[in-house]
Amino acid sequence: MILIDGKKAAAELRAELKQEVTELKAKHNKVPGLTVILIGDLTPSQIYVRNKEKSANEVGLKSEVIKYPDSVEEKAVLGKIKELNSDETVSGILVQLPLPKHIDKQKVIEAIDPSKDVDGFHPMNVGNLSSGYESSIPCTPLGCYLLIKKFQPNLNGKKAVVVGRSNLNGKPMTQLLLKENCTVTITHSKTKDLKAECLEADIIVAAVGIPELVRGDWVKKDAIVIDVGINKTDKGIVGDVHFDEVSKVAKALTPVPGGVGPMTIACLLKNTIDCFKRSQI
Ligand code: NAD
Repeated sequence: MILIDGKKAAAELRAELKQEVTELKAKHNKVPGLTVILIGDLTPSQIYVRNKEKSANEVGLKSEVIKYPDSVEEKAVLGKIKELNSDETVSGILVQLPLPKHIDKQKVIEAIDPSKDVDGFHPMNVGNLSSGYESSIPCTPLGCYLLIKKFQPNLNGKKAVVVGRSNLNGKPMTQLLLKENCTVTITHSKTKDLKAECLEADIIVAAVGIPELVRGDWVKKDAIVIDVGINKTDKGIVGDVHFDEVSKVAKALTPVPGGVGPMTIACLLKNTIDCFKRSQI
């Protein structure tokens, strides 16, 4: 079994992006800028945002974090987004989720100019992705896609099973695999026989949020298995895939931690640079 090393792949991607930023700076005399809006003081969100800022600085992006207290009014956030939309130094805008209950998440997502939507959540980007047009792609599925492609460049005709249908992971993942000419089955909590579906797959992407749901006897010999899950358990952080069992049958598997996770932030940087490049045309 080959361990798909997301940490290494993310470091390689960051190095490529750093080089690209240097070249863009020489060509345009400016660098792409990422602005993150952080509302409230949830610890995980603060950690994510700190890591995003650190990585953005490392590759040479202009990075800014705007912080609001939990009590901030929705209209203040929408007003700030409007301001950032027309700020030429801002290539990408990300509003860290989750938001406090009194703020309408969809309204916030739709307020972001689709050309600066580095999370790829705006309906325009969702539509473009599903129509096969150029768009920002949600960072985690994009990271999974790049890991799969690095391991197996030609996915023509492969049978892929995506476990989970969230807007964040499962649905965009399905679109990316379809684009690669896979035959894709998307499964979810109401799927009748998940094990039988998984056993058909050459590629499994598990994005569920249930510790070690995908077992060794659910996986066809020589399948590629991508584990998106991050689950806190008594024995530490585990994925949605039973690592010990699945590593005995799969051809390749991502570990948790050190698999998909590191690719997510690297893909956010990639999306910011891609938004900048599209804005310079
Ligand atoms: P979500 O809760 O939004 O969606 C979970 C999906 O799983 C749903 O579509 C649901 O129908 C499906 N599901 C639930 N129970 C199921 C079952 N028994 N069988 C089949 N499907 C079932 O979750 P999400 O936001 O997509 O996140 C999924 C996991 O990925 C979580 O563990 C999360 O922490 C992790 N995650 C990791 C990263 C990363 O960077 N690695 C990023 C985002 C999310």
